[in-house]
Amino acid sequence: MKLGDIGEFGFIDRIAQGCLVGEPSHVVRGIGDDAAVVRCPHGLLLITTDLLIERVHFLRPAISPTQLGTKALAVNLSDIAAMGGTPCDAFVSIAIPAEVPVEELDGIYDGMKALARRTGVNILGGDTTRSSQDLCLNLVVTGFVPEGEALYRSGARVGDRIVVTGTLGDSAGGLRILLERLELPHEVAAPLLAAHLEPELYLEEARLFATSGWAHAAIDLSDGLASDLGHVCRASGVGAVVDVAALPLSAELGELCRAAGGDPLALALGGGEDYRLLVAVAPEGVEPLTRSVAAATGRRLYEIGEVVPGSGIRLRHPDGRLEPLTLSGFDHFAHR
Ligand code: ADP
Ligand code: MG
Repeated sequence: MKLGDIGEFGFIDRIAQGCLVGEPSHVVRGIGDDAAVVRCPHGLLLITTDLLIERVHFLRPAISPTQLGTKALAVNLSDIAAMGGTPCDAFVSIAIPAEVPVEELDGIYDGMKALARRTGVNILGGDTTRSSQDLCLNLVVTGFVPEGEALYRSGARVGDRIVVTGTLGDSAGGLRILLERLELPHEVAAPLLAAHLEPELYLEEARLFATSGWAHAAIDLSDGLASDLGHVCRASGVGAVVDVAALPLSAELGELCRAAGGDPLALALGGGEDYRLLVAVAPEGVEPLTRSVAAATGRRLYEIGEVVPGSGIRLRHPDGRLEPLTLSGFDHFAHR
């Protein structure tokens, strides 16, 4: 079925089903009027948006419609988590080339709605238009965080430990499998592809960090550790030392690099789209936070370094040698 068969309004009616999670008390009007109407929460309102363009941010043949819809929402939820917040509502704008089957659009919305239900997010509106060539998908997601609990990039303090919520570089490994059409055993390829196509979310961790008082700064890792930790350092007016030996690298990423070349460390430092949280935590908070995260989610935290005076990031090698990490500085790891 083509979009032309049902028209823009037929499409909106079709996707408008199942956009609310129960009967959310803050929603006065969702889809169906000229604007959504919500009651403002007490505290701070978070607003984030991400734009995904076919062939720039995703390859339509390489990602299923369900995965695309899920990921489009997930990357926005990750931004809300990085602020320490709880997500509330989503707005979805989509530009659709004429040849895209309606069933593919259904798949995108199925993925998005399934994740929205799991995370208590209501889809309250959006816009629908034709596109001459590429599929474009833009989401706006709102969230909420009580005053005093928001985590900013600018709060890191000298002495804080740097923790991340998962392994690094797996998403970049998954992208390599897609781009280089690597043939790897299923048990190696599957988790790396999943990391790229279906990123994990850390919404529960985000609230534990935000309410603990020990977390001083946070960011989600969308552009790679080197780049994103660099943002925290600049915003906070501090430097960072990262222990190479402490970087959490998955066995699968090691397998990929053994089979196809490259260095896992380069992917961990420079690879984008891991969507782990990186948090600067007071030293005394690392152990209790690790325990409460394990109790709440069964997952763990990885301490990878510390916040130091000065500026810039340095890598500490196992022999104690310190090496400055510049944005392009990790390139050489790829060729060792
Ligand atoms: P208007 O022309 O006044 O902007 P539209 O006809 O574009 O209104 O939209 C009608 C309703 O459908 C609005 O509530 C809008 O937010 C919602 N809507 C339109 N497109 C989408 C979409 N792709 N996903 C979710 N809601 C949508
Ligand atoms: Mg209108």
